[in-house]
This record gives sequence, C-alpha cells and structure tokens, in this order.
Amino acid sequence: MAALGAATGRLPYAYERIPGQPTAILEEVPGADTGPVCPLDKRYVDEQPDGLRPDVLDAWRRLRAEAKRQGGTLCLQDSKRSMRQQQREFADAVRRFGTPEQAAKYVLPPEKSMHVKGIAVDVQPYASARWVERNGRALGWCRQYENEYWHFEYTHDNATRGCPPLRPSATGT
Ligand SMILES: [Zn+2]
Repeated sequence: MAALGAATGRLPYAYERIPGQPTAILEEVPGADTGPVCPLDKRYVDEQPDGLRPDVLDAWRRLRAEAKRQGGTLCLQDSKRSMRQQQREFADAVRRFGTPEQAAKYVLPPEKSMHVKGIAVDVQPYASARWVERNGRALGWCRQYENEYWHFEYTHDNATRGCPPLRPSATGT
C-alpha cells in the first residue's frame, strides 16, 4: 500500500471487497482481460465485470437487467483495469498514435483513467451503447466523450443531477 501511494504520489483508494477479508487497493485490482464473444457482434467480447467498485457493479447489474427487460443485450467490451493493465493499454496507444498527447485522446494514462478507479464501462455494439446513452442516466450511467460512444461512467448523482455535457475527448480537445 505504501509503495503504491509513493509511486503515484496519491493516497491509495481502498475498499473492502469482502467483509472480514483484507482490504484490497482498488487501483491494483485487475479486471478481466477478455471474455466470451459478444452474441450480437463477434468483433466484441462480453467480459465479466470483475473488480468494479461494489456500488458500480450493482449499478451495472441494474443497467443490464433493465436492458434485458426492454429486450436488449449489452456486451461489456471492457470495464475494470488495474494500473498495470491500463499502463499496458496506454503504451500500446502511444505506439499506435505516435505521441502520449494523441494517445490520451483514446486511452488515458493509469493515474487518470476511470477504468482504473472502477467506475467506467465500455459497452458494445453501437446500438447497445446508444441504448445506454438514452436510458442509462436514470440508473446513474452517463456517456462522457464525443469520440467514445461506448464509454460510460457511473456516479450516483447522475440520476438526480443529469449527465455532464459531452466533452470532445478525454483530453478535452
Ligand atoms: Zn472506456
């Protein structure tokens, strides 16, 4: 724990995953790397939402249940990532886009990613993401970026205060 705080310059964000068990550092908790093929579109997967913050996991299950009630299916292309998983994705994006600045429009570095904090999900395919954009707010889920139709973040307040305005990308430009 001390090592993580020292490495990132911030206090680790901790929660008790299982009452009575040792506290895990949320940012170090990995998510699934992949999952079974999405039944709606084989370009995507539908992974398990392992490692999401407990209230976010509950909210994800409610969202999925509501979609199902309305006859829809949501595929979870990606959700929780550990600092290490996010660092790997960011490094890949830097190779693909050429610079850290360009890469950050699509994949944030670990210390900024809401996937690392366990509050973000990437929903596919497109029609399913559009459904979440239209129906997710009441359950606390909001799209964030113009350039990522698939990326949603949960906060309890979204349901009452409404979603924030869309930003062009994760870097704001
Ligand atoms: Zn995302």
